[in-house]
Amino acid sequence: MSSIVIIGGGECGGRAALQVRERNFDGALMLVGAEALHPYERPPLSKNGILEGADPKFIMDADGYKERGIDVRLGADAIGIDRSNKTVELSDGTTLAYDKLLLATGARPRPLPGIAERSERVLTLRTHADALAIKRHLHEGRLAIVGGGFIGLELAAIARGLGATVTLIEGLPRILSRGVPEDIAHAVASRHEAAGVEILCASRIETFEIGADGVSEGAFGSNPGGAPRSRRCSRRPISWVRTSRSPPCRGAGRINTS
Ligand SMILES: Cc1cc2nc3c(=O)[nH]c(=O)nc-3n(C[C@H](O)[C@H](O)[C@H](O)COP(=O)(O)OP(=O)(O)OC[C@H]3O[C@@H](n4cnc5c(N)ncnc54)[C@H](O)[C@@H]3O)c2cc1C
Repeated sequence: MSSIVIIGGGECGGRAALQVRERNFDGALMLVGAEALHPYERPPLSKNGILEGADPKFIMDADGYKERGIDVRLGADAIGIDRSNKTVELSDGTTLAYDKLLLATGARPRPLPGIAERSERVLTLRTHADALAIKRHLHEGRLAIVGGGFIGLELAAIARGLGATVTLIEGLPRILSRGVPEDIAHAVASRHEAAGVEILCASRIETFEIGADGVSEGAFGSNPGGAPRSRRCSRRPISWVRTSRSPPCRGAGRINTS
């Protein structure tokens, strides 16, 4: 009997497992996910879903995987792939044999130089657990978001709606530079500013300190698309969220390619 191992329990990995069964594959099928939850949709995390208290939107409930004979290993990182022996080593000490291996490891928030990967006050937004952590900080009233793409802006809108004071820091000269034309970006920026979001474009983080009462930061920036307006954020206790992504990266650190 042949076997398939899928590494990555995100939407892609989960849907791939279901499709493999849908297409009548009857061998052993294993789905390995580093997160504690069965595959779910991420888009609601930055919209009016999780931050307002909704449950994760699973693509299939746990019983559905069982009924289809899909062996789901949650909370397990694939930490090594041995291609010559066709095995995958997991962080829980188990080893899985495969005939076919699918990598569906997705993306993760981009680390910023000099800024702690993650701490009590420096957060990222990628997973359901991340969204819950951000939610816990919103009542403290101050949030700085690094990244003026769709996810950062969606989070800014939700956080403002829940009463937080929000500063959004974008490294490029305008928000949404990869997503929409300039006119639309300006209109979106205006809507956010009218709602009270402070937007700093072409902004570089100059200083960064984590203290007992929060994170202090200073940044230079300019108005979105406008004349350069050099400014410095006041030092103040805030929580940070990073939203920009880097390519697939996590785990599977040791790969034997022989
Ligand atoms: C907040 C947010 C909002 C979004 N909104 C939208 C939207 O509105 N519209 C849209 O089109 N897209 C949106 N996206 C993007 C969309 O969610 C992604 O394109 C999608 O999640 C990609 O799915 P994926 O399964 O390929 O990767 P991922 O979702 O990144 O999943 C990869 C999974 O693999 C796991 N993994 C990684 N390495 C290992 C390893 N070594 N061992 C075990 N597991 C591992 C990770 O923990 C993760 O669970 C949003 C994303 C986020 C984060």
